[in-house]
Amino acid sequence: MSPALLEVAGLSKRFSRGGKGFAALDGVGFSIAAGETLALVGPSGSGKSTVARILLRLIEADAGSIRFEGEDLLRLRGGALRATRARLQMVFQDPLAAFNPRATVARLLDDPLRIHGIVDRGGRPTAIATLLERVGLAAELAGRAVHEISGGQRQRVAIARALATKPALIVLDEAVSALDVLVRADILRLLAGLQKDEGIAYLFISHDLGAVRAVAHRIAIIDGGKIVEQGAARAVIASPASATGKALVAATPELPVTKETVS
Ligand code: ADP
Ligand code: MG
Repeated sequence: MSPALLEVAGLSKRFSRGGKGFAALDGVGFSIAAGETLALVGPSGSGKSTVARILLRLIEADAGSIRFEGEDLLRLRGGALRATRARLQMVFQDPLAAFNPRATVARLLDDPLRIHGIVDRGGRPTAIATLLERVGLAAELAGRAVHEISGGQRQRVAIARALATKPALIVLDEAVSALDVLVRADILRLLAGLQKDEGIAYLFISHDLGAVRAVAHRIAIIDGGKIVEQGAARAVIASPASATGKALVAATPELPVTKETVS
């Protein structure tokens, strides 16, 4: 068997609340193969975003190890860290909200291409048009401002931005949670198509088992900073073993999309 693309082991992180320390993550471990989708599912406050933020090196873990493409991610510095960042991208809920609303779509896609030196200046308009096409958007959208496009289009642009640096893994933290059901199904279909065509792996973080069911190969359930259950998506959804898994399944209304219908 080929080594995992991502291997997380013993990840722990303490925060303090009201002067008292608590474990936001306690010995979290999971792995993701190339081209695979692992869903990290759990109730609000269970530690999902903390995992994402540690993976993206936005915050430091107290303990644990992360191997990504054979590298010891938590020890990378400087140029090696920058190169790895390009291969590990993130999309969260409305990521474009952080940008100047008057910035154009072209500008948002030009940034990663320029910063990571993906294509030279002359080639960038074509590269931007190609990125837009890959996420199902018309090339004309390049000239539009962020505030002029819809929520679904914004999320497609965010995905295009992530794709710009040729990632092997995209961490999607509640990336479709704010979208209405039909737009969400479109985005899930886009993600499945990109995975099929380009072999991108996803860590799909969500509190919503309905969205997870449509995209995940495997599911890890987190509660109180601990992984309480993991297994094949179909098996976990059909017969969850943990109390948290049972509660999440019981709370999930039927959805028309399943992995079979989107891929
Ligand atoms: P989730 O994404 O599953 O909703 P988070 O990972 O955001 O959960 O948070 C896990 C727990 O850690 C929550 O109790 C949250 O309030 C707490 N937490 C997250 N970030 C911080 C922080 N920077 N300082 C203190 N507590 C935090
Ligand atoms: Mg979160």
